[in-house]
This record gives sequence, structure tokens and C-alpha cells, in this order.
Amino acid sequence: MSSDSYRGRIAPSPNGYLHLGHAKTFWTAFERCRNASGHLIYRDEDIDPNRCKKEYSEAALEDLTRLGITWDEGPLLQSERIRLYAEKLKTLIELNLVYPCSKSRREIREYPELKQSPLGENLFPKSWSLPENDNAYPFDLSINWRFRVKETDLIEFTDLKQGPQAFRGQVDFADFLVWRKEGVPAYELAVVIDDIDMNITEVVRGQDLLLSTARQWLLYNAFNASPPVFYHEDLVNGADGKRLSKRSQSIALRTLFEQGHNRESLFKSIPA
Ligand code: GLU
Repeated sequence: MSSDSYRGRIAPSPNGYLHLGHAKTFWTAFERCRNASGHLIYRDEDIDPNRCKKEYSEAALEDLTRLGITWDEGPLLQSERIRLYAEKLKTLIELNLVYPCSKSRREIREYPELKQSPLGENLFPKSWSLPENDNAYPFDLSINWRFRVKETDLIEFTDLKQGPQAFRGQVDFADFLVWRKEGVPAYELAVVIDDIDMNITEVVRGQDLLLSTARQWLLYNAFNASPPVFYHEDLVNGADGKRLSKRSQSIALRTLFEQGHNRESLFKSIPA
């Protein structure tokens, strides 16, 4: 049934229970793929050893199955692909596009002349950015690596849901982490390597990741790969008007199922 032309993925992070916002996004990803007779991959983004738990991976599988989502391949685990990510980090080092960085989030937050993007992101201070090194920095997986963003970087694309987008380097985003000293890739790097490696043609994800898409665009360019097309689904707000998030302990999908909801009643409960 599946055609090679459309390849999509659903990629939950097992760092909490899924909520209604995830249900909406993953359902959209599933539907778009099925409507295109495509091939859907389930990718478990279990890369962050400090926040991801097996229990959440199992819960996500169960919840999405209960929602009626099916897939053609996976779950593929990011935690089993570290070798590939490390190889690609090496490529970025050799291309002189990344540099070692020991600055903590806190140091960045406390930088006296810290600049913020219009969306309120802290911009990594330009004066801490290390320049290109004649011989490239030595490969080391036990330190943080940061990708250098230039003022001339301009990312423009048309999102299939949110319309035309434009993001500027050093204005909307600045140097970003691609590798953590814990020996794992940062989200931006892992996701791009996987989406390239898995030949993903369309990425469906939450609208909160639009800015990440801009960063990731630079990684596609670095690896000489064409970015897929993007569909950033609208976020879902709770009764308090704030957007649902794992951190704010929004009602879990599984709790809603336990309360007797099914897919239809769940989706009906989302305010337009
Ligand atoms: N793993 C991310 C999440 O659960 C989604 C990443 C993506 O779709 O690129 O929010």
C-alpha cells in the first residue's frame, strides 16, 4: 500500500505523558501520510538520558495505538543510533561549522548584555562564539558543541499550515547546541540526521518547533541535503487559555482515555 513518494514520521519524546496537543499533531501526521498512501515511521526520540524514561516510551506507544494510529516501520530508537550521530558531528567539526562550548544555560542567562529574539529566546552572546580554527577543533564527544550562526543566514520557507516564514541569523536565533557533554546529540542534530537518513519527505510537528526548523535548515545545508517540506500543526490550549505542555503537567491523554473519551470525543473537545 505504501508509496515511496511520501515518507513521514511520528517522533514522540518520552520525557512525559502525551497530552491532547500531541494527539492532534500525531493524528495529523498519520492522516496526511495515509492520504498520500505514504510510509510512516515511528521514531522514539529517547535521546536525553536525564529526562527520558522507558515508562513514557511504553505509554506513548499505547496512547497512540489507542488513538487509532498505525505505522509501517519502527519504533526506531534514537538511543541506538548514537554512533551515526557521532560520525556526523565529526563531519561538522571537519567542516569547521561547530566549536566547543563550555557555557551553561545559566551563564548565558546571566550575560550582562544578553539579547533576545522577538519571540523572547535568549540569543547566545556573539562574543562567546569561537571563530573557525585553521585545523578544525579536535574531535571529542565529552564536551558541548555549538553550531555557528551568521548574521547573513536567512531561512525562508512556506509552511504547509502556517504559511510563509522568514528567520534571520543573530536576530531570531543564534549559535545553538548540536552535541552535549553527556555524549549525546542535541535535539536539532539528531532529528536532522534521522530525517535525512530515513528519507523523510514531509515533517509534521507542533507549531512551537518552527524556530527549531530554522536552525535545522542550516544543518540540512551543512550536510548538503534538501530539507523536507514542513507542516507545523497549531498548538492546543487548556481551559486556562495557556498552551498544553508536558512540563505544566497538562492532563495526560491516558487520563482522558480512562475518563471514557475516545478519539472523536477528544478531538471534539479541542477549541477551534
Ligand atoms: N520529539 C519532538 C516532540 O515530541 C518532536 C520532534 C519533531 O517532530 O521534530 O515534541
